[in-house]
Amino acid sequence: MTHSDILIIGGGIAGMSAAFFLAKAGKSVTVLEREDQPGYHSTGRSAALYSETYGPKIIRKMSTASRSFLITPPDGFTENPILSPRGIIMTAAPGEEAKLDAILTEGRANGANVIALTPDELKARIPVINTDLIIGAAHEPDAMDMDVHALHWGFIRQFKSQGGTLITKADVSSITKTDGKWHVTLGNGQTHSGDIIVNAAGAWVDDIATKAGVKPLGIIPKRRTAVMVDVPADVNAHGWPLVANMDETLYFKEDAGRLLVSPADTTPTEPHDVQPEELDIAITIDRLMTATSIEVRRPGESWAGLRSFFKDGDPVSDFDPADNSFYWLAGQGGYGIQTAPAMGEYAASIICGNGIPDHMQKLGVTKDALSASRSSLTTGK
Ligand SMILES: Cc1cc2nc3c(=O)[nH]c(=O)nc-3n(C[C@H](O)[C@H](O)[C@H](O)COP(=O)(O)OP(=O)(O)OC[C@H]3O[C@@H](n4cnc5c(N)ncnc54)[C@H](O)[C@@H]3O)c2cc1C
Repeated sequence: MTHSDILIIGGGIAGMSAAFFLAKAGKSVTVLEREDQPGYHSTGRSAALYSETYGPKIIRKMSTASRSFLITPPDGFTENPILSPRGIIMTAAPGEEAKLDAILTEGRANGANVIALTPDELKARIPVINTDLIIGAAHEPDAMDMDVHALHWGFIRQFKSQGGTLITKADVSSITKTDGKWHVTLGNGQTHSGDIIVNAAGAWVDDIATKAGVKPLGIIPKRRTAVMVDVPADVNAHGWPLVANMDETLYFKEDAGRLLVSPADTTPTEPHDVQPEELDIAITIDRLMTATSIEVRRPGESWAGLRSFFKDGDPVSDFDPADNSFYWLAGQGGYGIQTAPAMGEYAASIICGNGIPDHMQKLGVTKDALSASRSSLTTGK
């Protein structure tokens, strides 16, 4: 039996970013991760894009709040830059004029550099694109690729060097509370105790809550598929921005000379080691071939991952309303990597009783936006 101030369940990007900031604040922290590799689930399966105009309002604020950490991480955090230039182009179809206008206007109001493109300007950037059904596009040149491995392992290495403990193959099977302390038992019979539990178990957060006797908040894991596709020999995709359509049914991104393509699927599913479905792969290829002149004879490797959402689409970073020693860090949806530095710092600051960090307050981040008791969690928006 070991005892820590904080037990974090889940060693993905959410758990490890919070672990890093909590250890930095002087807390003794143990992270319990079920898999051999802490990035095995959602964290290791993302499209690795950083965009300040993507996602709901609170996500956009937390992405902006993460930017300086991602550009200038602490000394020794990583040998490689975490961000590298990519850009994103969002294309609009007839009828999506208002959406396009909103992305341009709101993006600029948030300080993002967003440029309007005509169909011809788009075609000049991405020659394979079929512009018959495109009325215009928004180009965010400052959107970035992220080195997810460098970010995740930067958190892990510095967490450990600050005295933190990460235990892998640590499947939390039961959780009890006696005399105000949590006792967590693993599948192998080991037990760990802590004053506070941070529930960062991704798609499994409700399962962890149930084990702890805490009321689940209603997480909905949604499957998303990605397929690698070869680019024809006469097409030079090098340096293309990520291209996504505004109705979120397709995006593609150049990746080492090939294309990573996703049908942007959002199929609700039980939490498990999710794999791509044949039908989703076929849909991906069909949509790519409709949107571009690229002929795909044989898709390359494919994978699927879970993006976990609450009913209102916003994440939760807060103590449970009924138990102020059980902290939820969950529902990061499709934005958990790009928001991780700010989400980890925020969680650590709230847990340590220090309130919202100043730089986030300046961006308008409120406790209510990330609250576990906000009414939209129970009623939906
Ligand atoms: C296809 C795809 C594309 C994406 N693209 C982007 C993108 O471009 N940008 C972006 O920012 N985000 C993106 N995301 C979202 C991002 O990957 C997630 O938001 C993020 O990884 C969530 O991190 P997490 O730590 O909460 O979850 P996870 O990485 O899933 O970590 C949770 C961990 O909890 C552990 N766990 C669960 N139950 C137990 C238990 N009983 N005992 C011990 N451990 C347990 C699991 O093993 C797991 O490792 C994408 C996701 C997908 C699937």
